[in-house]
Amino acid sequence: MTDQPDTVHSQTGKHAIVIGGSMAGLLAARVLSDHFDQVTILDRDRFPEGPEVRKGVPQAHHIHVLLVRGRQILEQLFPGLDAELIAGGVKPLEWGYDSISLAAAGWIPRFHSGLHSYTVSRAFLEWAVHQRVAANQRIRIMDSCEAVGLLTDSARASVTGVQVRFRRSSGQDSEQSIDGDLVVDASGRSSRTPEWLKSLGYQVPQETVINSFLGYATRLFEPPANFNGDWKLMFILARPPKLARGGIIAEIETGHWIVSLGGAARDYPPTEEAAFMDFCRTLASPQFYETIKDAKPVSPIYGYQRTANQLRHYERLTRWPENFVVTGDAVCGFNPIYGQGMTVAGLDALLLDACLREQRQADNGARINGLAFQKRLAKSNEGPWLLATGEDFRYPTTEGGTPDAMTRLTHRYMDRVIELLPEDEELCRLFFNVTHLTQPATALFQPYVLKAVARNLFRRASTPPPALSPYPQRAG
Ligand SMILES: Cc1cc2nc3c(=O)[nH]c(=O)nc-3n(C[C@H](O)[C@H](O)[C@H](O)COP(=O)(O)OP(=O)(O)OC[C@H]3O[C@@H](n4cnc5c(N)ncnc54)[C@H](O)[C@@H]3O)c2cc1C
Repeated sequence: MTDQPDTVHSQTGKHAIVIGGSMAGLLAARVLSDHFDQVTILDRDRFPEGPEVRKGVPQAHHIHVLLVRGRQILEQLFPGLDAELIAGGVKPLEWGYDSISLAAAGWIPRFHSGLHSYTVSRAFLEWAVHQRVAANQRIRIMDSCEAVGLLTDSARASVTGVQVRFRRSSGQDSEQSIDGDLVVDASGRSSRTPEWLKSLGYQVPQETVINSFLGYATRLFEPPANFNGDWKLMFILARPPKLARGGIIAEIETGHWIVSLGGAARDYPPTEEAAFMDFCRTLASPQFYETIKDAKPVSPIYGYQRTANQLRHYERLTRWPENFVVTGDAVCGFNPIYGQGMTVAGLDALLLDACLREQRQADNGARINGLAFQKRLAKSNEGPWLLATGEDFRYPTTEGGTPDAMTRLTHRYMDRVIELLPEDEELCRLFFNVTHLTQPATALFQPYVLKAVARNLFRRASTPPPALSPYPQRAG
């Protein structure tokens, strides 16, 4: 797949419309351009000229880790993007070798994991993807253009387009209908699809919300001139349920550090200067505070608390309008601490592409069975959802359900796995693969891991408390 129009296959679809021009919308539009003559992205924001945080994506102030699977998908959809980002100052990162992570049982070893992504600000990454999409001749981007409703045929059985409102700086907004053969809602957590479906006489989807009440506080720093650390990303993990606080420092394309603090169970990190630094002092390793204490702040401190896992069960509906699908956070938003959202948006786009290709092979039509898509999407979301909510259930204060016996058992098993990480590179590689969505969680239940866990069951930890040991240097 390339980011140029696909000229090999016949193009039978005429016009697809994507609501929302953030990561899920951009990636959906990219794959739709292989199946439709024209793709229109609508976004209510006015897009900035460069890599800037915009109103519709306020989370862009905070660290956005791009998982390894996410990097692979971006490179697949936009060949050469890796090199372009790196040329733009983005730092390539080999997990384990270039990162230092303190887990509950100690520092993860430094080793060549072979798992690569990069550290980049969210605004820069989205801007780079936006540029690629904007250069695609089949895609047109309409900003300051808010979707306010779905258009349908008279029987309300098929979606035929979108009603939009153009936001004018003069205040004189105007409305227009835009016809389309397929409409994709990628408008994020605040998606209005539930209310639109209701107004068309369809059921409203059930919603599952599992909230560990995590908050973020983020600030950019200029690293001290004498900084000589051999890492590009430091991650001090929380230790639920006892210590709900964690933090990440990562070098971004400007050479600045993005420093994001996280506090779950309503232990929100503060946005006042002194309190922000005090919070840093309380993480599981003093090295976090020691690292940034002499760094120069270069931005305000931004807070964010809308982090619940939120799943809209479109797959459970029995009636669904034709020519319409929902993707990205609009279907499933994750607690962001696990870094899955952009990667899942990429997986959603690949699924959309697969469904359209299958249909084209069946009858040469650029159509999609919307409900079948939502059902397949729900399956594909299962792994990341269980990973995020399962971890969140470690906090007794998490709302939205209680951990079942299997989740509690998985916690105990994963505790044993995590205990082994500081001493087992192979296990670390597997652990990275699972958390970076390059392998399913079942990989952590293969015989090699089961045996290691069994050996560890009766062993007592003899290592000094990890918080007191310095982070390991790079191997080799
Ligand atoms: C604090 C925080 C940290 C995060 N960290 C990570 C991370 O480390 N790694 C990671 O992969 N993900 C992370 N995420 C998740 C990530 O931001 C999202 O999953 C990702 O942006 C995909 O979301 P989306 O495109 O579906 O929706 P959004 O990014 O929310 O975008 C929705 C878009 O739709 C537009 N829109 C909304 N309504 C309308 C309308 N009616 N008409 C037209 N346009 C509309 C908005 O302007 C916006 O552009 C984080 C999220 C948060 C909150």
